[in-house]
Amino acid sequence: MKLLEATAKQILNEYGLRTPRGSVVSTSTQAAEVVDDIGPSMIKAQIPAGGRGKAGGVQLATDFETAGRVAGELLGSVLEGHVVETVLVEEFILIADELYVSVLIDTALGCPVVMASRHGGIDVESHPDQMESVRIDAGADITAAGLDVIVASLGHDSVSLRDAVLNTVRAFNELQATLVEINPLVLTTSGEVIAVDAKIETDDSAPPPQLASAQTSTEQLTPLEAAAADRGLRLIELGGSVAILANGAGLTMTTMDAVSHHGGEPANFLEIGGDAYTLAEPALELVLSQVGVRSLLVNFCGAFARCDVMTEGVVNALQSLQPNLPVFFSIHGTGQDEAREMVRSRLGVEPFETMHDAVVAAVQAAR
Ligand code: GDP
Ligand code: MN
Repeated sequence: MKLLEATAKQILNEYGLRTPRGSVVSTSTQAAEVVDDIGPSMIKAQIPAGGRGKAGGVQLATDFETAGRVAGELLGSVLEGHVVETVLVEEFILIADELYVSVLIDTALGCPVVMASRHGGIDVESHPDQMESVRIDAGADITAAGLDVIVASLGHDSVSLRDAVLNTVRAFNELQATLVEINPLVLTTSGEVIAVDAKIETDDSAPPPQLASAQTSTEQLTPLEAAAADRGLRLIELGGSVAILANGAGLTMTTMDAVSHHGGEPANFLEIGGDAYTLAEPALELVLSQVGVRSLLVNFCGAFARCDVMTEGVVNALQSLQPNLPVFFSIHGTGQDEAREMVRSRLGVEPFETMHDAVVAAVQAAR
């Protein structure tokens, strides 16, 4: 699901990011009144799409009359294939520099990454060589070293800029988002850091948020889910044929989404995290005892948590359980070479180069 800019900003505000003052309105009169109140403003079409600046959906209004006219033109018009039902009227910010910061799940790697560039704004794509990317552990903060790399690529350093990056990562993790993008993240002439635009996308196949709370109420759990909960594992049975083992809730959900996208049916949601080494055996035992499971997809991404440690837990478990079904691995990040070699030499299985290929193979094998 793509959130509208105004909603995304409200959420990021709660995570400590500064955003311009303003309000969402649905009539030109209301837009004019806001400008009357806060002064020169940007009138911004609220549609679930980017590129509004180039399409005329972001316009400056310095006074009451202009605000009414601009909002009147935008409201009800079709922009990038969407009807504009509301506009965000926000104080005009004096920009010294437009930066780019995002956190997203790199679907080729199957890892969350933080991306940053000193060339933010509407032309960010014309500087692909200036885009830095730093892998993070699913569900974890960016490391101090990772943050240094990101800050260096932004070409500026300050406590508020570092906080903005940390808070963006925190929002991504806690919302279990697939994308949080701030473009531009602005440095003002007075040195403030402000999110002038924001995008948040969440995964459609994510277990609805209430599932997390359902886990605390044991009577709603299936016997298998209750057995998992007893062992400190968060398992949700989904009834499909592709069993999934991944680290971190966000990556697990993206993996489920990718399986569905390629025509497969996930058998479970099971978040294993950094406990893979000690918990892989009970986790696999539970997942593989589900009726109808015909393939197993293991998707690990390590940055601070090491892939070789998580993988060793899984390889040990598979050797001890000897399940009679094909296993597919996508392993990326810290310790990936050792982990892949372990899978090759001890299981005789070749890990896939990309998460995409591993997903497609696991779905095909489950048919
Ligand atoms: P998008 O085109 O849909 O990504 O919409 P944005 O909200 O990112 O706006 C596009 C561009 O308009 C930004 O990159 C800025 O250059 C400019 N812009 C938006 N708001 C402001 C503002 O308050 N002050 C200034 N100076 N420029 C702005
Ligand atoms: Mn933008």
